[in-house]
Amino acid sequence: MNFFSTSKTLGILGGGQLGKMLLYTTRKWDIKTSVLDPKENAPARLACDSFTKGDLTNFQAVYDFGKKVDVLTIEIEKVNVKALEKLAQEGVKVYPQPHVLRTIQNKCLQKKFYESHNIPTASFEEFETLDQVKEAVIKGELSFPFVWKSAEMGYDGYGVSIVHSNKEIESLNIGPCLIEELVHVEKELSVIVCSRPQGEMVHYPVVESEFHPMANQVEYVLCPARIPGEVAKKAVEVALKTAKAYGQIGLLAVELFLTSEGDILVNEVAPRPHNTGHYSIEASYTCQFEQHIRAVLDLPLGKTASKIAAVMVNLVGKKGYAGPVVYKNIDQILGIKGVIPHIYGKKDTRPFRKMGHVTIIHPKIDTARKMAAQLKETLSVISK
Ligand code: ADP
Repeated sequence: MNFFSTSKTLGILGGGQLGKMLLYTTRKWDIKTSVLDPKENAPARLACDSFTKGDLTNFQAVYDFGKKVDVLTIEIEKVNVKALEKLAQEGVKVYPQPHVLRTIQNKCLQKKFYESHNIPTASFEEFETLDQVKEAVIKGELSFPFVWKSAEMGYDGYGVSIVHSNKEIESLNIGPCLIEELVHVEKELSVIVCSRPQGEMVHYPVVESEFHPMANQVEYVLCPARIPGEVAKKAVEVALKTAKAYGQIGLLAVELFLTSEGDILVNEVAPRPHNTGHYSIEASYTCQFEQHIRAVLDLPLGKTASKIAAVMVNLVGKKGYAGPVVYKNIDQILGIKGVIPHIYGKKDTRPFRKMGHVTIIHPKIDTARKMAAQLKETLSVISK
């Protein structure tokens, strides 16, 4: 199927920043695109050929949208999987495949998937209600601290809590959840794998994420990760095993924990472009967004190696500010060589909302990391 300067259409469910960045490639290659998103002024709206406003979790909205495209992909996991299953049965190419989304949409199903495929992951137990968790604590079957994860509403650390006491249990959601062992995490790593229908599979170098202590959100991503070669090798092996088990088409970001004992555990995966791959726009031979488009259109995959080291800094709304956004001192940071900001186009900021990111490229990763810390001091996302 030829998508280059033809009427064939690639549909994307979700029009946020990931959708917008996917469209840089479709613009470059003159590939026709349609985007579905609930927000009238979604960031991706400007760069697609047609935009439909609609609820991504609604069967009819997703089905009707999918009927008009030739290949359908996603930039967000929370979409109506039943509609995708029906579309796939009726001949629309849906990547990632619906079965992958069904597994990952529920954290309990996802963890059981790792268990059944012998993929290393933190030990866990599934609970139907919060009352059952409380009972397990009373009976001495669970002891503090542990990690609580809501089965179905996770996103960027919302729906995840480290629980130290009975009092803290009271603030959690009452619904189905996963209780995980609290792992001693030495480093959070991630490996992005990509596959095309014909069978080719490639992976990016191992990257390292540093988290914001308060927001439990990724603050910096470093490529390459500052780890010994044998640890990187192990991380890649686990990521490839995970990707093969899913058998998904397109990108699969595999989030990993390197424990203080030196083990590599899979935390979770995302079958779409991922925050830990944004550095690839400037630093890799083929950026993750182009790679995903290549994969879902069954084109040869590109080279994943880096041209240079990079650190990505997430630009999130500063605490205490909400309303029309201002990027304070952005002109100053543009004056530093090797610093490239990306602004997603969200008009209003709120505390910790992802508004953009900045990539710093430098031959030395340690220098790039220092520049990143300085940049955080200079640039701030505030409101008017
Ligand atoms: P989300 O889907 O909301 O991103 P995650 O499952 O990735 O949630 O958890 C968010 C963060 O919480 C992780 O990146 C990690 O820092 C921490 N975390 C999650 N699970 C554990 C665990 N079992 N042990 C220690 N820390 C964890």
